[in-house]
Amino acid sequence: MKKIGMLGGMSWESSLEYYRMMNEEVKTILGGTHSANCLLYSFDFQQIERLQHEGKWDELTRIMVEEAMNLKKAGANLIVICTNTMHLVAPSIEAATSLPVLHIADVTGHAIKQENLKKVALLGTRFTMESSFYRDLLKERYEIELMIPNEEDRQCIHDIIYDELIFGILTEASRLAYTRIIESLQADGAEGVILGCTEIPLLIQQQHVSIPLFDTTYLHATAAVRKALEQ
Ligand code: GLU
Repeated sequence: MKKIGMLGGMSWESSLEYYRMMNEEVKTILGGTHSANCLLYSFDFQQIERLQHEGKWDELTRIMVEEAMNLKKAGANLIVICTNTMHLVAPSIEAATSLPVLHIADVTGHAIKQENLKKVALLGTRFTMESSFYRDLLKERYEIELMIPNEEDRQCIHDIIYDELIFGILTEASRLAYTRIIESLQADGAEGVILGCTEIPLLIQQQHVSIPLFDTTYLHATAAVRKALEQ
């Protein structure tokens, strides 16, 4: 099993899920007392979140690359960035470390393609929804069209992530806000919805809506294990 280098703590609420899911997946595949061969670097999220909101992406790139290099020095064979948003700097990490970075949008696109869906909506932070990394990768590699919520709904989704979900706060009011947004995207033609923030699956699960959901935390964590077990 290759050693998985995880860049986590963004937030730790979802890194816990990655760690649990990766270990469960190893157990499912290998059985016995097998568990994940991994390293986790967990950032102080306040520093990351402040730089994101100040738009200091060069500084974020520098910090992320530095810690990815430390994972490489510690023996990591592949890098898993345990958040959608920070995939904005994935190309820099891949270039600097020369290690494969398992891209969360690639893994998600693959899962959507398997369901034969052509048009899906993306929920995530504003940074994720308003940048092109999901849109371009899904279009170019999988011929999938991406929709995003309107301005007001994007702000609502973003605020709930940073004011509640990263603190582990799950409320019925926020669940209703998300299901309303998901239902309006469905009415506008979405065939599926990407839960493109690794904390959203803590709040919204398949039983809450009728449209197919793509849980990026689960898809990414389990794909990392399969990648680590490839010969
Ligand atoms: N975990 C979230 C994501 O998947 C947001 C936290 C962050 O800004 O990294 O995008």
